[in-house]
Amino acid sequence: MFKITVLCKINNNHSIPPTAGCGEEVNNSIMNNAIYSFREPKNEPVYSYSPGSPERESLMEELNSQNNKVVEIPLIIGGKEIRTGKTGYVVKPTEHGHILAKYHMATEKEVAHAIDEAMKAKRDWMNLSWMERASILMRSAELISGKYRNLMNASTMLGQGKNVHQAEIDAACEVIDYLRFNSWFASLIYREQPVSGTQSINRIQYRPLEGFIYAVTPFNFTAIASNLNTSVALMGNTALWKPASTALLSNYYLMTILKEAGMPDGVINFIPGPGSAITNVILKNKDFGGLHFTGSNSTFNTLWKQVSYNLEIYTSYPKLVGETGGKGFIFAHSSSDPLELAVAIVRGAFEYQGQKCSAASRAYIPESLWPELKDHLLSITSDLHMGDVMDFKNFVNAVIDEAAFDNILGYINKAKSSKEARIITGGSGNKSKGYFIEPTIIETTDPHFVTMEKEIFGPVMTVFVYDDKLFEETLDICDKTSPYGLTGAIFSRDKYATMKACRTLRYSAGNFYINDKPTGAMVGQQPFGGARASGTNDKAGSYLNLVRWVSPRTVKETLIPATDYRYPFMD
Ligand code: NAD
Repeated sequence: MFKITVLCKINNNHSIPPTAGCGEEVNNSIMNNAIYSFREPKNEPVYSYSPGSPERESLMEELNSQNNKVVEIPLIIGGKEIRTGKTGYVVKPTEHGHILAKYHMATEKEVAHAIDEAMKAKRDWMNLSWMERASILMRSAELISGKYRNLMNASTMLGQGKNVHQAEIDAACEVIDYLRFNSWFASLIYREQPVSGTQSINRIQYRPLEGFIYAVTPFNFTAIASNLNTSVALMGNTALWKPASTALLSNYYLMTILKEAGMPDGVINFIPGPGSAITNVILKNKDFGGLHFTGSNSTFNTLWKQVSYNLEIYTSYPKLVGETGGKGFIFAHSSSDPLELAVAIVRGAFEYQGQKCSAASRAYIPESLWPELKDHLLSITSDLHMGDVMDFKNFVNAVIDEAAFDNILGYINKAKSSKEARIITGGSGNKSKGYFIEPTIIETTDPHFVTMEKEIFGPVMTVFVYDDKLFEETLDICDKTSPYGLTGAIFSRDKYATMKACRTLRYSAGNFYINDKPTGAMVGQQPFGGARASGTNDKAGSYLNLVRWVSPRTVKETLIPATDYRYPFMD
């Protein structure tokens, strides 16, 4: 194996590999004289799973297989499986009596062990050329695109209660897109270098953060669970991964695929278990270097406060990246088309049972459009089927667990008992077998009614009908109604009205849509995230997220050092 010390490029010409910085030895690549750059990838094509398609048949086989077994999920620390004997169960949201997996939970001892393993693995991992790290991500993408597509989709469908389309765009396509696009974004970051002159060479070395990263992932997107870990690893960091217990089936399979793709032991350490107990150990460790979080606003606030409380302990100021809740809106101008609006509302509010941070959950509709729009909504919702994920005609499945079910029905009941609201469709739920809640539309006369303001995270849409003449005033209300700033949409065929909405709603959404539903952001196309109470807006699916996981070092090398302390002005 050769050992070389990589030179840096001069004057922003990209011809010298930006692999390492000053003094870093790159001895782990046989391709050490290669100048490599990833091509801009294309988004993974979405399979249709239409009747008779080969992908539908093979997925059904995998669904039947996973539906008929109980998997044991260990912790994976330093590449080794650990069974603590303290266990919990993963059940199907559509049939909560059906156990899919038994999982082991981390205790303080295993968390401390995982920190040691992450720190140990870091030395070799950060010294590996970024290209070699990226090649592991690219291989993972290929494995998921091919032989493990069914595994990922079926486990996400059964464990997280997604229909086939929702699983395909998440557990297959978005996971793959993150892996491929991030590799490309990383290559753009590493090649970005400062200007040099003839007398000195300047370079920026993109060091990983000092310490380890804590990745805390939500239940609702397998792709997010994947990205929160692999993005930080790509940039040379090592991670402790605390998955959501309701997403463990797909998350465990993902972990095994990363290992098969060549992710070295200890780079990502998989530690399911109780969030607060795990956090207490991690956030008291001096090597805690950063938090990559997606979940609720309240959990992120709790973690941020704990970090602040422990600030003096840490070697560096930890980087805190958190994408949290939302209260997505659809705002209609009187020039918009009622049928287009109805489809956007139904898809935006009810796909994956409204359990997307981006879900549309409040709408502002001009009086002139409401009668026709309401007819379309009633007609479409009466056509929606609800039930198990294995029956592909179901558009709606179950919400994730009993706590979510009770919380969502609590909001629906508030509407039932209020004089300012009425339910125009849906309104009931049944948790006897699975956690099923009917897609529900509430009409309110109060733009500040509780279901217009709070994140419900369920299949509930609230509509406020406004006087057409009060378009601008209602835009102001929309902007000020909710603490969140994640997603929103304006529907309008009038350019002046559209631009007025863009201006007034400047800070109301980090992902803003014109004539489209506010969900379905694609990696590389619509970088995702919002500000206000929705998070730090570090835009997953773009280079902006990856730059948070490096701590750049600037190195200036003077070619001929000065030999006289005096300056000409002193003559
Ligand atoms: P959650 O906050 O309940 O849980 C998120 C993760 O945090 C889980 O792994 C959970 O176990 C863990 N957790 C809870 N308390 C913890 C603690 N004290 N220490 C460490 N970990 C802890 O959220 P959820 O129910 O999994 O997901 C739904 C929420 O996520 C919604 O609010 C949704 O809007 C948000 N979300 C946001 C985005 C985004 O990009 N903005 C994307 C997906 C989901």
